[in-house]
Amino acid sequence: MDKRAPWIITLLLVATFITPQAFAATSIKVIASFSVIEDLVKRVAGDDISITTIVPEGDDVHRWELTPPNVLAVEEADIVFYNGHGLEPWIRHVEAMANDTLTLMALAESANYAPLTIPVGQHKGNPDPHMWMDPKGAAAYIEVITHTLSVRYPDKAAAFQARAVQAREALALLDQQIQERLEGIPQTNRILTTSEAAFGYFAHAYGFEYAAIWGLGSETLGSAQAMEIMSKRLTDKRPPALFYESTTPYIHMDALAREAGLTLAGPLYVDTLSDTDGPAYNYPAMLRHNAELLHEALGGARAEE
Ligand SMILES: [Zn+2]
Repeated sequence: MDKRAPWIITLLLVATFITPQAFAATSIKVIASFSVIEDLVKRVAGDDISITTIVPEGDDVHRWELTPPNVLAVEEADIVFYNGHGLEPWIRHVEAMANDTLTLMALAESANYAPLTIPVGQHKGNPDPHMWMDPKGAAAYIEVITHTLSVRYPDKAAAFQARAVQAREALALLDQQIQERLEGIPQTNRILTTSEAAFGYFAHAYGFEYAAIWGLGSETLGSAQAMEIMSKRLTDKRPPALFYESTTPYIHMDALAREAGLTLAGPLYVDTLSDTDGPAYNYPAMLRHNAELLHEALGGARAEE
């Protein structure tokens, strides 16, 4: 055996023990504002990053308030990926804390995807933030995530780009699956009604007539006027079902369903994923769950198998 071997082995052993610590100290520290963005960032970043998510799954991204652990995470972070277009009103506190080395990236505001506007409520006419609800919107987020990570960590850019190709292919396949699942819903039943106007992109992508009681989850929810407008609409349209969402109060849509004698279905997922045991354990599962629920509640044809 080579005489140098013992000290080489010693160095390797030392390196083996030191490396995890040193890597942890210099590892990429990325923050995602909420669970959907965490999912999309992970698809590009893989195991090359340590990611912290501000709003835990199940909680309301619109009404979150920063916690002390959130503040500590922001202080240590290199990049904060958030949605923007007013989805996270609390991001202004993150902006106030930002130093020169922190990259703040609003995915929906930077995405190459035409925004729709909020159709109702206090923010009517502003860009609708829920762009990820169309897989093509999520693919536009992937582009921004990939570019941002590649600029910040050029030595890992090739790995980011390779994962982005896979992510885009998976999203294109998901889009096709959702389209096919929803195809069986008769045209006259393609009426989507939710509490928050968070499904505009989804309705636009898959051909649903759409209405909601309020515009954004951060505004006054279910005012008397908003409830009356929706009540009149339901009397007129008589959709096969109304829907509630996992993070919105249930009582408003429930009251409208009872009043009009209509079926209430849910929950749809939009502003959060579920926990790992739930139906929206990741982004594709969230859209598939929603498509399945719509298919069932709006009288979709049975699969011919
Ligand atoms: Zn929302």
